[in-house]
This record gives sequence, structure tokens and C-alpha cells, in this order.
Amino acid sequence: MGGGALSADDLFDGTDPTQAVLRATDWVATALGPVDRWPGELHAAVRTVLPSRVPMLLWWGQRLTQLYNDAFRPLIGNKHPRAIGQDAADCYPEAWPELGPLAEKVLTGAGATYSRDLYLPYERHGYVEETYWTFSYSPVRAGHSVGGVFIACLDTTSQVLAERRLHILHELGSVSVAEARTTAGACLASLDVLAGNRRDVPFALAYLLDDSDAELSLVASVGVADRAVSPWLGATLESASWKVMRLLRAEVVSGIGAPLGPVFEPDEHGATLADRAFLLPLIDQAGDRAIGTLALGISRQRAFDDDYQRFFELVARQVSSAVTDVQAYQAEHRRAEALAAADRAKTRFLQNVSHEFRTPLTLILGSLAEVHQEPSDLPPARRTALDVARRATLRLERLVNSLLEFARGESDVQLRPDATDVGALTAEFVAMFRPAVERAALSLVLDAHDVAPGGLVALDQEAWVKVLSNLLSNAVKFTTSGTITVRLGREDTRLVLEVVDTGAGIPAEEIPRIFDRFYRAPGIPARTDEGLGIGLSLVAELVAAMQGWIGVVSTPGIGSTFTVVVPAVPTDDPGSDRAPAMRHARAAAADTDSWVGSAAATGQRAGEATSGAGRVLLVEDNGDMRAYLTHLLQGDGWTVDAVVDAEAALEAVDAGYDLVLCDVMLPGMDGIELVRALRRTPTTAGLPIVVLTARAGPESAAEGLEAGADDYIVKPFEPVELLARTRVHLELSRLRTYALDQAERRAANLEAALTTNRQIGAAIGILMHQHKITESQGFELLREISQHTNRKLRDVADELVFTGALPPDDGGTSR
Ligand code: ADP
Repeated sequence: MGGGALSADDLFDGTDPTQAVLRATDWVATALGPVDRWPGELHAAVRTVLPSRVPMLLWWGQRLTQLYNDAFRPLIGNKHPRAIGQDAADCYPEAWPELGPLAEKVLTGAGATYSRDLYLPYERHGYVEETYWTFSYSPVRAGHSVGGVFIACLDTTSQVLAERRLHILHELGSVSVAEARTTAGACLASLDVLAGNRRDVPFALAYLLDDSDAELSLVASVGVADRAVSPWLGATLESASWKVMRLLRAEVVSGIGAPLGPVFEPDEHGATLADRAFLLPLIDQAGDRAIGTLALGISRQRAFDDDYQRFFELVARQVSSAVTDVQAYQAEHRRAEALAAADRAKTRFLQNVSHEFRTPLTLILGSLAEVHQEPSDLPPARRTALDVARRATLRLERLVNSLLEFARGESDVQLRPDATDVGALTAEFVAMFRPAVERAALSLVLDAHDVAPGGLVALDQEAWVKVLSNLLSNAVKFTTSGTITVRLGREDTRLVLEVVDTGAGIPAEEIPRIFDRFYRAPGIPARTDEGLGIGLSLVAELVAAMQGWIGVVSTPGIGSTFTVVVPAVPTDDPGSDRAPAMRHARAAAADTDSWVGSAAATGQRAGEATSGAGRVLLVEDNGDMRAYLTHLLQGDGWTVDAVVDAEAALEAVDAGYDLVLCDVMLPGMDGIELVRALRRTPTTAGLPIVVLTARAGPESAAEGLEAGADDYIVKPFEPVELLARTRVHLELSRLRTYALDQAERRAANLEAALTTNRQIGAAIGILMHQHKITESQGFELLREISQHTNRKLRDVADELVFTGALPPDDGGTSR
């Protein structure tokens, strides 16, 4: 170097960073000859190239001798400084098949060229790199011909790579979990995406652990020519996989291409693109457990730099989430299937059970009807009992029928539209319901003047009546005073039915759920607590089958309006018989009637005791059950006051009662709350309370007893048992009062006395249970111990309740 005829000053007088390039003056001088003999165009071109901050090159003469500026130096890598003054073809042999023809075109006068993001294999860092360039070749004139090529260029490799990788990641993100179906499918779909970018991912293999985490299997691969020839590769990657999964850390596996040249599919130029792989763990959703591994080939044409590695990590993350999404999807699917199967089983069960119920019910009803029709001299009380039984059985039959219908309806509702005078049908229905509604002290208004009489539409009459009866019966159930309006209108081709009540209303948040099967909005005051929560869902199904629509508008405390809109398809057929639908209407009206509380029943003093039995306050919402219990207790000498709900009970109750018998399931405040309220009130704190519960089982009993009830009776009960137990409690209560008078004569505090009374009662209960003795024997035993130990009866009872065992007495009376 140095000593040539060329100097920096000769070439260029600036003070810019081209100094370094220009130190290679020897090559330039050798190649282009002494500066002073350069043609003017070459001088001018050099003056343009060298000071520029844009990477620029000048290829001069027929051999395209090269000169470039400082800005180009980083782009030429280790070809510098040899590249200065070198022939272009010698400098870029790897890219010359692309570049040569372009330069040739310029030299032969075809004018300038422009290439954008052109792929060029380029060796500048010791390997042939995949590079991309945007550049133009322009002719530099020398006299009348082209003396050289002037090149301005940009290395766009990093942009091209970044865009390409982003695209791949984006595509990976849209792998469809639903289409993939299986975890292996998710891997296959992901690797399919990677196959579109062989330059970044020359090959890829995905391994997944089985459910037991014991086996690892290859589930997808791309870029590997034939799986059959890759046992070595498989073994290498598999053994490395276990380590990677254990450490949850990726690692490079080298040398895998070398012994297996043909394993990898060659690229379009026939080159095998990779001999190393980056093996990454596939990780579960929580991020702390490996579910497999992903081996991604590292391109020989790229340095495995931070960007490349980061890209691979993002790829693995996307594949992991495709796999875990599928796992979640599968789990969800399995859950849904299990639920659906359980649902189907439930429906089958409902169908079978309700079906089975019908046979005995039919027999009972038949027998009852027979007895009822006999012109016998049945005493009136027996006839009433028979009526109660018949009505209750009819109700049971209707419940079973709705269950059966509901279970059937699940699959599909089959409608049989008949030519129907819907105005007349509705009017008849309303007339049938009127007595029940009026017995409930409500007004019933039918407003159907919009519907021309005689106009026939195709309608399933039974379905229509079912819709009407459910809505009307609900209106009665949830309305204690005011009016129920049934409005029927016709708008063009639609029938519009509204059932409006002035009842309790439905809180806004409950409205979306009341059409769900078995759903009953809590806390809405009602006449009765009866109901299965299937009425509205049945209505919704029927309306949907009629191609109609149902909605509700409701304001708590003001009332509700249920609106049903169904298509009205006119028909000329002769109107059909309404009788079958009316049978259903009659049954529904009778059902409603059975639980409507007659005004007379509420708070009614049902008659004087026929013997010395006490006064009982009966709290029961079901009309028939109330009448039955009243009858039963009166027959046993009780004076019965019957009320329909807990609020009425709290109003009616006073110290004059000997016993409260209350149902647990009551509309509004339930029986358990009533017990608590009675226990809180000093005047009723010691009153014996027996709860009637339909829910058998220790929890419901415990709930009642915990609240302070003295006993519970599970429905259905034997009348004898009910009477026996109420009598026991009456006598027990009297005994306790007597004992209290004797043993606690000095107890001034009424509250303490009441507590004592209850405590002694509880202690006697324990003794009765433990020793299988009667209550008077229990009391005697307690009194005995109290005398022997010279302790107050109350203290003895206290200890027994507390420890569950009798305190030992002096005489050793311990059992
Ligand atoms: P059920 O009457 O047997 O409880 P439904 O399916 O007929 O069942 O009604 C579901 C729930 O919707 C009822 O439990 C009640 O909470 C609410 N509901 C229905 N109709 C009315 C109404 N007219 N007023 C207030 N609440 C109502």
C-alpha cells in the first residue's frame, strides 16, 4: 500500500470520513491509472461518490473496477479493503449471476436500472448470507460511450426479514383452534404456516408429550425429506428435548445436517439450508410446564443473532398457545358433551319417572272417582276427605303431566294447528278461570274487542290454552290485590296477547332468567310457594314452536305485563272443536283454585275445642293442606287458627297459643324465618313450634331445629303421627310450665324462666332419645338428679344440653 501515484488530495479535497477508504489508493491507482490521466467524467463521478453519506459505488471501465465511499464500508464486511480497485465480478462472485447482467445492460447503453429488495447471496461475514438490496445502476458517460456504472444502494435485509417474520407470526396467530381439533392438528397447522418461510425456518419438527407425560412423540414436521430416513435426527432431538423440557430453556443442537445430507428437503436452489436447530420448549398456559418441544432449523444463510433467536421464541410461543388453546377447547368440548349427556339422561329420567307415575295415579283417581260416585251414606267429613284426596291427586296428575310434557318438549314441540276462533277460545278460557280469580279477591278483565268474532286462524288450541293458563295462573299467584287483564289484539298478520297483573312484579335482574327451566326468582311474594319453575319455559317453547315471540315488562310493586305475539294465519276451514283444549283449561283453573287462599280461611277461628286440647296456630299456604290439617287437628280436640303465610302468623300469634304448626315452604318469609322471629319475641319465645317440611333429610331438620323449632314432621306424614307428636309437645310444654313453677318459683325474670323452660325441654328431648323413654320418664329422671345433687333443675338441664350427658348424682344414678 502507499507510494502510488494517487493521493487523497488528488482525488478529493474534502475533510469527510472517506479517509479510510482512500487509504487504499494503491489499488485504485493500479486499477484506474494515475489520477492526472483520468477523464473528466471519472473525476466528476469520484467527486460525487466519495463524500456522500448514502452508500455509493463506482464501477469504472470495461472490467468494472470498483471504488466506494465510506458509507458503503459497513455493507461490504470483510471484503474490504480488498474490494477497493477490485473488478466487480471478482468481488461478488456469489451474486454475479444476478448483478452481471444488470451491469452489462447499463454498459451497453440500455439506461439506468432500479431494483427493490432484490435477494442477493452475499458473502461478507465468512458465510454466504441471505441479503436484500434496493439499488440503482446509472451509466457514467465518458465521451460518447458509457465509461462506468454509478451505484446508489441500500441494504434492506433487516427490513425484509422483519416484515417476513411479522407476517409469519401473524399467520400463526390465526391458526384456527376449531379446525385443528387435536393438539397434533394444531402443530400441523402451525408448521404449515412455517413451511411458507423456508429461509427463516428451513425445517421444523414438533414433539408433544402424551397425557401421562411419559412419552414424547413427533406430531408434525416440515422441511424434512422423509421421516423414515431420520431416526438419527429423531433420536438426537428427542434426547435433547427431555433436557429442554426439564430446564424450560431452549438450546442449539448442532451438526444435525452433516451426517444426514439428504434428510432436509433442499431449497429451490438445491441447497440444504440448515445443519443446526434451535430446540425450544412448548409451554402450557400457566407458563410453568413443558408440553412438548419445537425444533426449528437455523438457516445457514443467517447469523443466529438476537433478532433471529427472538423470532424463534415468538414462534414457539404461538405454537404453544395454539396447542394449549386446543387443549382448552377439547376440555370445554368434553365438559359440554358430559353436560349434554347428563342432560339427556335427566330428561330420560324425567320422562320415565313421570310416565311411571301416571299408572298409579290413574288407578288412584279411578278408585276415588268410583267411591265418590257411589250413592253411599258417607258422612260429610269423610266425603270432604275424599274430595281433598281427589283434588290433590288431580293436581299431582297435572304436575306429572307438565313434567312429562316438558321432558318431551325438550326434543321438539309438535303443534297441530286447527281452524280456531281465537277470540271465542280466549273468552271461554277466561270464563273458566274467573271463579278461581275472583275467589282470590281479584278482578279479571278480558279485553278482546280488536279481534273480530268468527274470524278463524290456524292455531294449536291446546298450546294456546297452555300459554294462557300458565300466564294467568302466574298472574294470580303473584298478585294479592287489584286486577288481572287479558288483552287480545290483532295487528295485520299477528295476534298479540297481553296478560297484565297488578302484582308483585319482577326485579329487572331476574327477568332474563325466569324463562329458564326450573328457575324461580327468589323473594317474590306469592300466594303460594307451589310451582316447579317450568311454566314459563314451557310457554316460551310453545311460543317459539308457533313461530312467535314472548316478552315481559315488569316493575316491582306495580305489576307485570307478559306479551305474546304469534302469527295469525287466516283459514277458511270450519272451526274445530274447542272441547279438548277446554279440558286442559278446566284442569288448570281447578289447580289455581286449589291454592288460592279463600278470604274466609285467613285468620279464621275454625271452631272451639271439643276437649281440653290446646290452641294451635296453623301456618300453611296450600288451601287443601290447610283445610286437611285443620280438620285433622280439630278432630283431635284442638282449636285451630289457620293463616296462609308467616306475616299473618306473626300478626295473629299471642301468648294464648299452645303450639304453632307451620310449613317450611311459605311464600315470602319462610317457615324457618318465622321460627326465628317467634323465638326472638319474648312472649312467644317459649311457645312449642313444630315445622312441617317436605324436604326430608338431616339438613332440613337441622335447619328447623337450629332456628329453634321443637320438632319437625316430614311430609308425607301419617295423620296419627302428626297428632301424637303435636299432643306430646302440648303436654311437654304444660309439664315444663308446671316444673318451672315448682322448681323456679323464685325466678323473677320471665325471660330467664322462658329460657329455662326451653332448656329443660331440650334436655328431656336428649334423654328421650338417649334412653328411649317417654317424656314424663325423662322429666322424672331429670328431677331425680336435681334432688339428689341438690342442684337447680335448670342447672342440671343446662349441663346435660351442654355436655350431652347427665351429671352423676350422689346415689350414682347415671345411665
Ligand atoms: P313457577 O310459577 O312454577 O315458579 P314459572 O316458570 O311459571 O314457574 O315462573 C318462573 C318464575 O317467574 C316464578 O317463580 C316467578 O319468580 C316469576 N314470575 C312468573 N310470572 C310472574 C308474575 N306474573 N309476577 C311476578 N313474578 C312472576
